[in-house]
Amino acid sequence: GGGGGGEGKGKGGGERGEGGEGGGVVVLDAFCGCGGNGIAFALRPPGEVALVVCVDLDRSKLEMAAANAAIYGVGGDRIVFVEGDAVAVMEGYHAADGRRPVKGPPAPGVGGSAERVAGGYRMGGPDLLPPLIDAVFLSPPWGGTDYRSAGKKGYDIERCIRLPQAAGGGGDGGRVVNGAELLSIAGRASAGGIVAYFLPRNTNLVSLGQAARRAGYCGSIELEQNFLNGKFKTTTAFLSGRESSQK
Ligand code: ADP
Repeated sequence: GGGGGGEGKGKGGGERGEGGEGGGVVVLDAFCGCGGNGIAFALRPPGEVALVVCVDLDRSKLEMAAANAAIYGVGGDRIVFVEGDAVAVMEGYHAADGRRPVKGPPAPGVGGSAERVAGGYRMGGPDLLPPLIDAVFLSPPWGGTDYRSAGKKGYDIERCIRLPQAAGGGGDGGRVVNGAELLSIAGRASAGGIVAYFLPRNTNLVSLGQAARRAGYCGSIELEQNFLNGKFKTTTAFLSGRESSQK
């Protein structure tokens, strides 16, 4: 129980860098864009963060993220760049106890194998994914630049965050994943049920709480208000303590 975190420890033996290597976690940056958050995670000591997996649909974003990682001096073995749909990637971890089958189906629209890019980083398709993810950072598209028009507390993650799934991949083409479902998908993908969700400041916290309940979270949600130049800009919600029965 306990969300599976303890379970992974028993048999993880090195695959998460924890077996004698200091206990660092594997973090998935699911919509990495130019890599700011993933790079910040990868700069943590290896005993804290063993590996960061940066996923983006857009190859050019991944290339920019790799260039940024090199600028910030991230080690070549601390970060990996995977081109693919974040939902498909996370759902690949839903099989038995949050473990990714070694030879899972490729994410829709992704081919090609790994290559080394500038900085010595690995970049390629889902074959680069590690067997286990400990924690997920979610900064999905917020649904356009007019998210503020939702009003002071009106940004509902279920209504405003919508991720169309590509057709022809896992047979789920035409499906649209909303921001509440995204939280469930991320919670199940993470072996520890740990999710950090980067959201607009006008996020409706009732909608967030309801989504968390539906995703199997039963404890409290920690909210961090992010300020830039003295102004409240964004909120990061930290979720953990998922009921494993919700798998
Ligand atoms: P931008 O930050 O350029 O405004 P968005 O906010 O629309 O872009 O999206 C943030 C990032 O998420 C972009 O880099 C985009 O390519 C990526 N992205 C959008 N949808 C997906 C998806 N389904 N899976 C993975 N990455 C995605």
